[in-house]
Amino acid sequence: MDHFLYRDGHLMAEDVAISHIAAAVGTPFYVYSAATLTRHYRLFSEALSPLPHQVCFAIKSLSNLAVLKLLGDLGAGMDVVSGGEYLRAKAAGVPGERIVFSGVGKTRDEMKLALTGGIRQFNVESEPELRALSEVAQSLGATAPITLRVNPDVDAKTHEKIATGKKENKFGIPISRARAIYAQAASLPGLQVVGIDVHIGSQLTDLAPFEAAFTKIAELTEALRADGHTISRLDLGGGLGIPYTRSNEAPPLPFDYGALIKRTLGHLGCEIEIEPGRLISGNSGLLVSQVIYVKEGEDRTFLIVDAAMNDLVRPSMYGAHHDIIPVTEPAPATPTQDYDVVGPVCETGDTFAKARALPHLAEGDLVAFRSAGAYGAVMASEYNTRPLVPEVLVQADHFAVIRARPSFDEILARDNIPEWL
Ligand SMILES: *Cc1c(COP(=O)(O)O)cnc(C)c1O
Repeated sequence: MDHFLYRDGHLMAEDVAISHIAAAVGTPFYVYSAATLTRHYRLFSEALSPLPHQVCFAIKSLSNLAVLKLLGDLGAGMDVVSGGEYLRAKAAGVPGERIVFSGVGKTRDEMKLALTGGIRQFNVESEPELRALSEVAQSLGATAPITLRVNPDVDAKTHEKIATGKKENKFGIPISRARAIYAQAASLPGLQVVGIDVHIGSQLTDLAPFEAAFTKIAELTEALRADGHTISRLDLGGGLGIPYTRSNEAPPLPFDYGALIKRTLGHLGCEIEIEPGRLISGNSGLLVSQVIYVKEGEDRTFLIVDAAMNDLVRPSMYGAHHDIIPVTEPAPATPTQDYDVVGPVCETGDTFAKARALPHLAEGDLVAFRSAGAYGAVMASEYNTRPLVPEVLVQADHFAVIRARPSFDEILARDNIPEWL
């Protein structure tokens, strides 16, 4: 559920008309709903109660400081995967004890940054990383709280580019070697084992892979405790999928996901951490764009809009589907027409949708790409020297630009022509 609904024929973000924001900010732009972000965060937190838990928002899905501040003020922790994301979480006012650090390639500089600034735990993904973290922690006279990310070798049944829990994926340590690597972790100075971490993939639309992974984690918890390790936290990663179409069968709800966690892991007395990204941010955002031209091809009609693959890369990168809706509500029973919806970038891959049935649209009309809050703005680039798309946050009847569109002067000023040219 979200807060982007038609009212009196106008698409609204909460109580603000999208067309009003478009007039003020210009297109294309991302717009997020504070009420939707809040609701999604609370659904997870309630789903895990009464277990002790910490919801850590995966900020790689949407990392604007205003969004992080909003969620952090509700009590959210943050899952970060780079030094830059760590600094974002801190800049948004989230204390280190609520930040977990994930990722297969943490550098020593990133470890140092987090150890100095405060960190809840590192989710370590390999033996060389264990050794590096041990050295960095020792050099700082610090102790690094760690979990090991285990790869449970389960098939998440999602898009191959976002499946992470099979043995052929680069993530985590093989679960079959976990006991040996935990023993190594316990023997290294500067490290303190606090738990286990697992994350099997993104956009999962079925609970069965989670159940398979969590069952293995429960067994591993008992085995590691028998080996003498303290396992007081279980970080279960993120990955719960969202509906990208309204017609689709609905993915599992956070409530059912929470119930599964309680059933498979609740008896262990651990604090549960989860790292949802997409489910909190995905349906909390739209990308709004304007029709530049309607171009008649030989056998199809192209709707050329002012957003492009550099602003929202998911369709060209993953073949992802985004519902596209007009900002002015079509009258009931308005006939539809098939459009290929494309951006202005000079690549055929710059196609958002093929043969998409939409009501008749004309130059200047506004359209919105739904479910664009996650992995949208964060993956944007300036390909074709198109300025990074701005972001807007709506709360009730007011809105603010939370990242401005850079000017061309700013973009050009970042380049440097050496004096010897
Ligand atoms: C990407 C990622 C997440 C978030 O995944 P979603 O599908 O957006 O919920 C959580 N944890 C880790 C380690 C990740 O890499």
